[in-house]
Amino acid sequence: MNVISNHMPTADLQRLDAAHHMHPFTAGSELAEKGARVITSAKGVMLTDSDGHQILDAMSGLWCVNIGYGREELAEAAARQMRELPYYNTFFQTTHVPAIALSAKLAEIAPRDLNHVFYAGSGSEANDTNIRLVRHYWAQKGQPDRNIIISRTNAYHGSTLGGGSLGGMSGMQNQGVPVIPGIHHIDQPDWWSEGGDMSPHDFGLACARQLEDAIKQHGPDRVAAFIGEPVQGAGGVIVPPDSYWPEIQRICDDYGILLIADEVICGFGRTGHWFGSDYMGIRPDIMTIAKGLSSGYAPIGGSLVCDEVAQVVNDAGDFNHGYTYSGHPVACAVALENLRILQEERIVENVCNKIAPYLADKWTQLTDHPLVGEAKIVGMMGSIALTPDKAARAKFKADAGTVGLHCRGRCFDNGLVMRHVGDRMIIAPPLVITESEIDTLIDRAVQSLDETYDLIR
Ligand code: PLP
Repeated sequence: MNVISNHMPTADLQRLDAAHHMHPFTAGSELAEKGARVITSAKGVMLTDSDGHQILDAMSGLWCVNIGYGREELAEAAARQMRELPYYNTFFQTTHVPAIALSAKLAEIAPRDLNHVFYAGSGSEANDTNIRLVRHYWAQKGQPDRNIIISRTNAYHGSTLGGGSLGGMSGMQNQGVPVIPGIHHIDQPDWWSEGGDMSPHDFGLACARQLEDAIKQHGPDRVAAFIGEPVQGAGGVIVPPDSYWPEIQRICDDYGILLIADEVICGFGRTGHWFGSDYMGIRPDIMTIAKGLSSGYAPIGGSLVCDEVAQVVNDAGDFNHGYTYSGHPVACAVALENLRILQEERIVENVCNKIAPYLADKWTQLTDHPLVGEAKIVGMMGSIALTPDKAARAKFKADAGTVGLHCRGRCFDNGLVMRHVGDRMIIAPPLVITESEIDTLIDRAVQSLDETYDLIR
């Protein structure tokens, strides 16, 4: 067989890919028919594909490349660590310097007393850890029946059996999850789609109070934790009404249940603050982290844990849980270098003070387009709802998502990665995007919206 490389014709690469590579969240039949897009290199916010097209990546890969592509420092950190100590584990009372240094750094930047980290290879694994962690915690406190975890419909918390069970996405529900018992879902705070005649404020309160109803239904001594993303990402960048999170926090405090903030997307500057919890003013007991922790340059995730929970778990003897790659030294070294760049280049502050307001101004103007209902944006994560009737907040009659899917295709052909969730279009560009690149993003988005509108009217 020929050597497989970037120099092979695209069609040959696609044929091999379709023959041997099973892709996440992709229909195999479509791969065989159309082939996958082959991305060959990237720099800053721009991708290059195997046909030489330049595409502005307004999704930071999968919401993860916060510092942008092509940072040599991270490649060097990985190479240095691979030469010195490519692997050692953190089981059975062993450790290494990259894990020690990253843990100390995370304790420094995390809010409140989230001073402890349990490492995983991904966000899904970290959420699996969280299920076991909170149940183990309550069992050690003499409340083994306190094991119910409350999550939300349309939430995404990963694809492992635990993450998938915590999640509430309809597309996953009939494919082998949920399987973990004791997980209860309440409604998501999506005012645009589900708020009916209520004001956003009242709807936010009503959604939050479903948590209180669920706690009363199961019995307060049965509920271990609530899990939610500060801003739902994969669900469609659903920004909750301002009334929502303060009420959730009040309920967690009143009933003494643990609050888990899944910061896999929101963390590390995405909201214009270090963590989405800072932005929403919440005090989580546990945070799930991944993605922006290493800007996606190495697979790493983890659970940040507050003093009290960590102490109970640590005092209880072995926590019989862990992954071969928990605290992988190369991933830790890459994450440390990524955090150094985020801090030293003041990237989060620049997002908060300059870039996010610039993007928000342009993004919210998209509501002038005849196809766009609401436009929501927090920091560097935004969404627009495509609608046939803005005033009625109506959905398209055709299969949900058809218009969004079409728009995504137009975007790609116009040199822009913008993702669709049903008929919501979403963006989460690298935090280092410049104002002129934002202008390009918006121009390409408008062109794609125009073309989509022409097709459906
Ligand atoms: N939690 C949230 C909020 C996510 O968005 C994701 C992934 O998109 C995950 C968990 C799962 O992370 P991973 O894909 O690293 O397993």
